[in-house]
Amino acid sequence: MNFMALIKRCSCGLEVDSQFKSSQMHGLTMRTCPSCLVRHQVVELSTSEYSKFYSDDYHTSFQDDTTQGPYRDRFEHDRHIAHIRFKEYHKFLTAENTRLLDIGSGNGAFVYEASGRGFESYGLEPGKKAYLDFLGENIVNKTLDECSLEDFGSFGERFGIVVMHDVIEHLVDPVSALRKIRDYLLEDDGLLVVDLPDYYRPEGLHHWRPTQHLWFWNTTQAADMLANESFKIASMTHPIPGKTVFYLGGKSYK
Ligand SMILES: [Zn+2]
Repeated sequence: MNFMALIKRCSCGLEVDSQFKSSQMHGLTMRTCPSCLVRHQVVELSTSEYSKFYSDDYHTSFQDDTTQGPYRDRFEHDRHIAHIRFKEYHKFLTAENTRLLDIGSGNGAFVYEASGRGFESYGLEPGKKAYLDFLGENIVNKTLDECSLEDFGSFGERFGIVVMHDVIEHLVDPVSALRKIRDYLLEDDGLLVVDLPDYYRPEGLHHWRPTQHLWFWNTTQAADMLANESFKIASMTHPIPGKTVFYLGGKSYK
């Protein structure tokens, strides 16, 4: 078994070793954690090669090869999706939730739509092309991992709403990302929205993708990881077939 793969530690914290069972599922090489039973994909890239994949290729050549088309051509479509998402998110927001951060903001359609709705909106996006295409200024061209305390400081105050759409399953270390959100970015009574694939339903089968998706939590495993990092689950929905959305509160969420 090759231990030089990208994921060195399970999302439960256990270091990957020979106790992790390898298997082939839907054409992908997977490993299963012997402790929490979470599956992750074996991707034979170093951390820097994997980040380069997102900063250079993901939004241009890679997306051109998929059925979705490159992100720059999807701006209007993504604004429409943003509009649908806001209808749901408003149920959980109060008048005080005026500052918004979109982690993995892609072509910026959600940030753009949020600004139009009166939010003071920011994005984090590692893709250089996606960043350059964006119409506004409030996008930081980095991953959450690359952000320093200084970067967090440059945002000013914390955010009343932080969203991650189709992002957490791509992160090498999703737990440290959740801790950064909790400790530096989200207001104590703020709302975190995590939208991720539901791989284990027939509608979610197309999410078994090589390289891109590293973590294959089922709904219970994802809920456990979020709760272990002190997020309170206010609601969980399946608004799009094959996707799960968690609505999570921070420290003093009621
Ligand atoms: Zn585990």
